[in-house]
Amino acid sequence: MKQCILCHCRLGLVKFKSRAGWVCKQCYALVSLNYTQTITNLDWPQLQALYHQQTARQTLEPQEFVITRRINQYILLDDTHQLLCLPNNVKFSGAELAPEYFQYHMLRQSYLEQQTRTQASLVCKNIIVQLKFQDTATVQQRAIVLVPKPIDIHSLIYATQLKVAHQLLATLHQIATPS
Ligand SMILES: [Zn+2]
Repeated sequence: MKQCILCHCRLGLVKFKSRAGWVCKQCYALVSLNYTQTITNLDWPQLQALYHQQTARQTLEPQEFVITRRINQYILLDDTHQLLCLPNNVKFSGAELAPEYFQYHMLRQSYLEQQTRTQASLVCKNIIVQLKFQDTATVQQRAIVLVPKPIDIHSLIYATQLKVAHQLLATLHQIATPS
């Protein structure tokens, strides 16, 4: 009789193969980060790390999250519990994701990605704040899209969104390296 290697439940018809063995549907939802990554190449330590991280995160949200700071609708912070929430509105996450919670210490990197090109007029192609979270073996990359499509760099939106981007980065840098 086959068992899920993570929760040890009896496996049904729907099961998923990893390097370490078979995983049930419920655990797959967790370790695939809500079906955003495949697990075929994950080994036992990686699966275990993901599983613990995801189950820990589930118990964190949302009743324990108290907003102490926020930057518009882009990030919410809970300084008491040292948690960062990405609301992941599809408009600025560029993907269908549920709100996500990360511990401050998981934030390893944040930087501005901006592409401009010179043609007849100066055009900014996009403004994106990239975030990299790491917890043990798992690295997760997230993006906050502030300007999704080309705009004139003389426009007010450009100036406003660039300011927000720098505000985000200042806050993120402060979280990543607590004084
Ligand atoms: Zn399972």
